[in-house]
Amino acid sequence: MRTLNFPLLALALFGLATVLPAATPPVASATPRPVYLDAAAPLESRVEDLLGRLTLEEKISLVHGDSKFTTAAIPRLGLPRRWFSDGPHGVREDTLPDSFQPAGHTDDFATCLPILLALAATWNPDAARAYGDVIGEEARQRGKDVMLGPGVNIARTPLGGRTSEFLGEDPYLAARLAVSYVRAVQSHDVAACVKHFAANNQETRRMSVDVEMDERTLREIYLPAFRAAVQEGGAWAVMGAYNKFRGQFCCHNDYLLNRVLKGEWGFRGIVVSDWNGTHDTREAVRNGLDVEMGTTQPYDDYYLARPFREGLQKGGFPSAVLDDKVRRSLRVMLATHVLDAGRAPGSINTVAHQTAARRIAEEAIVLLKNDRAALPLDPAKLASIAVIGENATRLHAYGGDSAKIKALYEVSPLDGILRRIGDRVTVTYSPGYRSKDAAPDLVERAVAAARAADVAIVIGGLIHRKPFDCEGADRSDMKLPFGQDELIRRVVAANPHTIVVLVSGSPVEMDAAWLASVPAVVEAWYGGSEAGNALARVLFGDVNPSGKLPCTFPRRLADSPAHALGAYPGRDGLVRYEEGLLVGYRWFDTKKIEPLFPFGHGLSYTHFEYSALKIVPGSGGDGPVATVEFEIANTGAREGAEVAQVYVHENAASVPRPVQELKAFRKVSLQPGEKQTVSLPLGQEAFAYYDPARQGWVAAAGEFTIHVGSSSRDVRLTGGFKLAATSFAP
Ligand code: BGC
Repeated sequence: MRTLNFPLLALALFGLATVLPAATPPVASATPRPVYLDAAAPLESRVEDLLGRLTLEEKISLVHGDSKFTTAAIPRLGLPRRWFSDGPHGVREDTLPDSFQPAGHTDDFATCLPILLALAATWNPDAARAYGDVIGEEARQRGKDVMLGPGVNIARTPLGGRTSEFLGEDPYLAARLAVSYVRAVQSHDVAACVKHFAANNQETRRMSVDVEMDERTLREIYLPAFRAAVQEGGAWAVMGAYNKFRGQFCCHNDYLLNRVLKGEWGFRGIVVSDWNGTHDTREAVRNGLDVEMGTTQPYDDYYLARPFREGLQKGGFPSAVLDDKVRRSLRVMLATHVLDAGRAPGSINTVAHQTAARRIAEEAIVLLKNDRAALPLDPAKLASIAVIGENATRLHAYGGDSAKIKALYEVSPLDGILRRIGDRVTVTYSPGYRSKDAAPDLVERAVAAARAADVAIVIGGLIHRKPFDCEGADRSDMKLPFGQDELIRRVVAANPHTIVVLVSGSPVEMDAAWLASVPAVVEAWYGGSEAGNALARVLFGDVNPSGKLPCTFPRRLADSPAHALGAYPGRDGLVRYEEGLLVGYRWFDTKKIEPLFPFGHGLSYTHFEYSALKIVPGSGGDGPVATVEFEIANTGAREGAEVAQVYVHENAASVPRPVQELKAFRKVSLQPGEKQTVSLPLGQEAFAYYDPARQGWVAAAGEFTIHVGSSSRDVRLTGGFKLAATSFAP
């Protein structure tokens, strides 16, 4: 099933040659070892050496797929097939060569991590590193070379079908996590492919919609996570988006790929098309696409195959343009050590990976509401629990389309609860609703079960399939489907001690009536293989929740910017981002609209107090412009972690700016009674806006207000800072 690793074979033979006994006659004119096979030679020398050995046919074979997820091997030179694989939160199952259908292998089970939005809810770059390590190690064990993730598109609308696959609504948070993720994946000799570049923020008409936005919005909101992943994370691959941007398809968009990504940002890796997202040979050749993927039989008919080769042969394209694409592919292959003996071997489904999956899932869980300390539940004080809701037993790993994972196992919430307390507490289960069809009798049974129990836990939310959290379609509204509002209202009327757990990959609207009467609400996301264990450990207090929302939960859809302005999903093939910079909390805060739960919100079982804010001016230059210093104390009785968030506001800006923007954060773990000083440096970029006229970032001298908070709306400390001099950065 696996292809042979030719270079390893070749190297083994070289190695053998050097240890043969002296009795063997030396080969008089031994061919020197080619530079490209010399792991100690400089990368660029190896690339040039290998490039120089390739025929036109071989070069062309490296710029397009020869199956759904591979490009061809070049056995003559020992270059193996290059394997791409989804996806963002685990290594996808193997598919048949020419389709997305499962290959039916028995050795392609993987660890399913929580969705990327859940990773964003940890607000913890160390969690992103652990996440990337699992992806990288499992990818290597499965023989993959390029992992198609992370997705860093900004959550512009709560309805986005792929919100679950991305890192939330804030460019700074997404950037910090993407950098850690990419570095970790790549430390295992696998390239990370950051996707989808760019402005892929809706699934509705995703294959054709043309996105228009002003330049500041592009630079300040939609590009920073890509830029950070490339420049700081060192990502070796970027995937073009399906949609158009300013009239041109993103997979061959001259402005995005040539000018910004490769020109301004100096990207030296490969631009890969989204699967079947290429539309034109001439544009693909000239506008920066390096590898065309997602095509099918006959592969040679597609844009960067025969038509490109014929164009070159007829002199329609300079050969340098092909060499540039091939050079990039070779660079990525050699940088990830595909030809080197010591390439990271990887491992899969290890206890360490499963533990990482559980810890990340735990850290991602957001405690949205917790009146009268309804949570955590104390099993010693409970005789019975009624678990209600289809999501208590539903599994989600194998959902989401290209993000689906064939998990080795997935612990459902009900299983997690039973494992945790099933031997001591009577647990009943009733589905309460069905995602397939209406079932009124289920409500009655659930209500009866709730009435008979000490505590009811309703585990509902969305499903990881169309038309909910899934690639290929956006949701049609933000409401809880399948009659869940009515179910929760009835359950809480029957038992006031009702906990609501939402399992979803995007924000949901919550009915005001039940929200007022339910004492505790938890957002658990799609938690991956260890979802149920993680949830149970939070519900029963083994773990103190520390997740924070990576996107605003609006009260109603119409409050959300793109919807308030009628700027979604566009018309006549065009969507204009009329809200501009005011995405997510930037809109709610600037327009003074009360969200249901704000960006950055998440409660704990303990309490944190903030004090002693100091804003220390820095020396400038390459160092921080200012350092925000404050103390956080855990004043409760449990160990816990708090995400302290720093938002910057320009007092008298010369250009329109969001009222505040996240520019630093830190997750701090504290024992009961412990106090720590947190020190967060702010560089010039923390104060800057993008100036399209000067094509760069301006931090204007003047007064700024710094908010330090437990969420974007729960500001605990406020200080002022005067930026002495205006600075400019490209
Ligand atoms: C998705 C990508 C994915 C690719 C390969 C496309 O439909 O947009 O995110 O990586 O398929 O499965």
